Amino acid sequence: MRESIKKAICPVCGRKLGDHVPDMESVLAELSYDGKDIRIVTPEVVMEADFDHALDEEGFTLDEPHPLVAVIKIRFDSSGKGTSYQVLKILEGVDNE
Ligand SMILES: [Zn+2]
Repeated sequence: MRESIKKAICPVCGRKLGDHVPDMESVLAELSYDGKDIRIVTPEVVMEADFDHALDEEGFTLDEPHPLVAVIKIRFDSSGKGTSYQVLKILEGVDNE
């Protein structure tokens, strides 16, 4: 499950993203925080998660942090629990500032 995350490469600077791609726990936590009255019905959902590439693999701050979008496929079982998590691709994000 973590493999597709570990291998992801930043489309902007070409560095490995390592652990900086949002993982299933953080994505689902954010989803349930923003929408407690929402239930996921289809077993497989593709979603986009905005995040910033601000740290390199060793955790040092990048000189020019840049926004990215992780396109993620999550599969849910009948109780709504996430059972598989796949990062399909990483896209260049849009800087809102
Ligand atoms: Zn980058």
